[in-house]
Amino acid sequence: MTYAGPVDDLAPVTRTGGVPLVPAGFTWPQCAECSGPMQFLAQLPVNTPGAQGAEAAAGAERVLSVFMCQNDPGLCDEWDPVAGGNRALLFPRAGLTPAPVPAGDETLLAETCGIDCTARDAAPYHEARGKWSEACGRPLRDVLGQLGGTPSWLQHDETPACPSCARPMSFVAQLEEGRDHRTAMNFGGGGCGYAFACAPCEEGSFLWQC
Ligand SMILES: [Zn+2]
Ligand SMILES: [Zn+2]
Repeated sequence: MTYAGPVDDLAPVTRTGGVPLVPAGFTWPQCAECSGPMQFLAQLPVNTPGAQGAEAAAGAERVLSVFMCQNDPGLCDEWDPVAGGNRALLFPRAGLTPAPVPAGDETLLAETCGIDCTARDAAPYHEARGKWSEACGRPLRDVLGQLGGTPSWLQHDETPACPSCARPMSFVAQLEEGRDHRTAMNFGGGGCGYAFACAPCEEGSFLWQC
């Protein structure tokens, strides 16, 4: 996933930032620790396990919407997949509309970034990232993460178990903090976020490492 330039806050595309597109009856996630509204980070296409790049984005039937508390950075266990400081919500792609955004300074990112998905060879993510940057003459920071593939863990493997069926969840995407530190997501400073889903159970999960 690479930076594709600014997009509209409401664009029905793969992006970080902007306003989440949500189904009817949606309630904006609240942090379990501080009870404040979470920050919307990204909407990501979810496809069958193993699909990668543009192919995965085009065929997706679901969207994973990632939220994380930023009301007291570092104090709400926001890196943890189960503590309640973040949420990853899996929605059917059809019929989504922009969410009403709650009041608060930390509910939306300061920049909305479109994401290009390009299929890469089977090289591990950290290698593919460097190769892309070299080949395109663009900064490493323009790589915003990977969609599908295999997680490139900064720490040990923390693949979460589905809260409903207890099976290991499918890897959806790895997210870099972003291209501009002023508008980037906060994964502890140079960390990566990891998003997972269990499509049959309609469950999503998110964590980060640094
Ligand atoms: Zn919080
Ligand atoms: Zn499940």
